[in-house]
Amino acid sequence: MEGFTLAQPRSLDDALAAGPQAGAKYIAGGTDLMQLAKDNVETPHHLIDIEGLLPDTISTATDGSLQLGALARMVEVATHADVRSSWPALSEALLLSASPQIRNMGTVGGNLLQRTRCGYFRDVGFSCNKRSPGSGCPAIPGESRGLGVLGVSDHCIATHPSDMPVALMAMDASLQLVSPGGGTRLVPFAEFYRLPGSTPEIETNLLPGELIVAVVVPRSASARRSRYVKVRDRASFEFAVVSAAVALEVTDGTVRNVRIAMGGVAPRPWRLSQVEAALQGRPATPESFQEAASLAGEGAVTTKDNAFKVKLMERAILRGLQLASA
Ligand SMILES: Cc1cc2nc3c(=O)[nH]c(=O)nc-3n(C[C@H](O)[C@H](O)[C@H](O)COP(=O)(O)OP(=O)(O)OC[C@H]3O[C@@H](n4cnc5c(N)ncnc54)[C@H](O)[C@@H]3O)c2cc1C
Repeated sequence: MEGFTLAQPRSLDDALAAGPQAGAKYIAGGTDLMQLAKDNVETPHHLIDIEGLLPDTISTATDGSLQLGALARMVEVATHADVRSSWPALSEALLLSASPQIRNMGTVGGNLLQRTRCGYFRDVGFSCNKRSPGSGCPAIPGESRGLGVLGVSDHCIATHPSDMPVALMAMDASLQLVSPGGGTRLVPFAEFYRLPGSTPEIETNLLPGELIVAVVVPRSASARRSRYVKVRDRASFEFAVVSAAVALEVTDGTVRNVRIAMGGVAPRPWRLSQVEAALQGRPATPESFQEAASLAGEGAVTTKDNAFKVKLMERAILRGLQLASA
């Protein structure tokens, strides 16, 4: 692990002024960043502690939307009474994430920016286009069981590892950002993460030094009936092989509104608009659920190791629809 300085700025302005300097990284709970630094995957030279500088609250705005401060701990969001009743998939996704110790430390902002768990990225003994642009992707011909099948490129097939963003993608959330100049902007969640293309090292549309301040999640009938299904190799403390967040509004036996997002299959939480379109206005029956779920793998690019994910996606969506409509 390389040496670094640790700054504890007194104000947000001071933190934002320090953010864009070369080798600087913000640190929140530190549960991902410190592991990456210890493994020399990331080598930050200046850590900027943002504790106390951004909201850590969970509140409701006058329009009913949920406001999650970037420094809210994962455990606080997961166990919040309003989150549990009005955005249940969000609570479920967090409770199925990591371990109690990590959920006590990990923050909303840090979870959104967790780096991929691709073994080739996390081991500096291998080349990796994401870690070292242009060095190659040994995952494509190599061990790829846990890697992506949608939105991947010839340069990278890594998946986004976090659970909470999958639920947020199914709830049409937005991110409040603040930049070093003090300007703020609201970015729809669907526009936050980038696909790898030929630049897999650029993962989001965050500008240099920009900070996530909060996440805004609209209140809706479908979010209220949302569920999160996580399929993993062991029952706890494990990342998703495939996960599905399903938000569903059914009136008089007909699907009025549905949002489906998947984790473990793509470089970002993946919205399945073709499955949603096939369900919209259709009877909420096992037959139409099955028919729509069978479209999940459209456009998938698989390897010899991960082709099974297409069927697993279908099953996870089906289970999510069953639970949300029950
Ligand atoms: C063994 C293990 C198992 C795990 N299993 C899961 C799992 O199943 N599901 C899951 O979702 N997660 C899992 N995790 C990951 C864990 O949830 C993340 O480590 C945690 O969410 C990161 O939050 P943090 O606050 O500690 O982030 P940090 O490590 O502090 O930061 C992570 C990144 O975010 C940046 N950052 C942090 N806050 C902001 C902000 N407000 N604005 C801009 N940039 C910011 C930092 O600069 C850094 O680049 C696991 C972790 C471990 C170690």
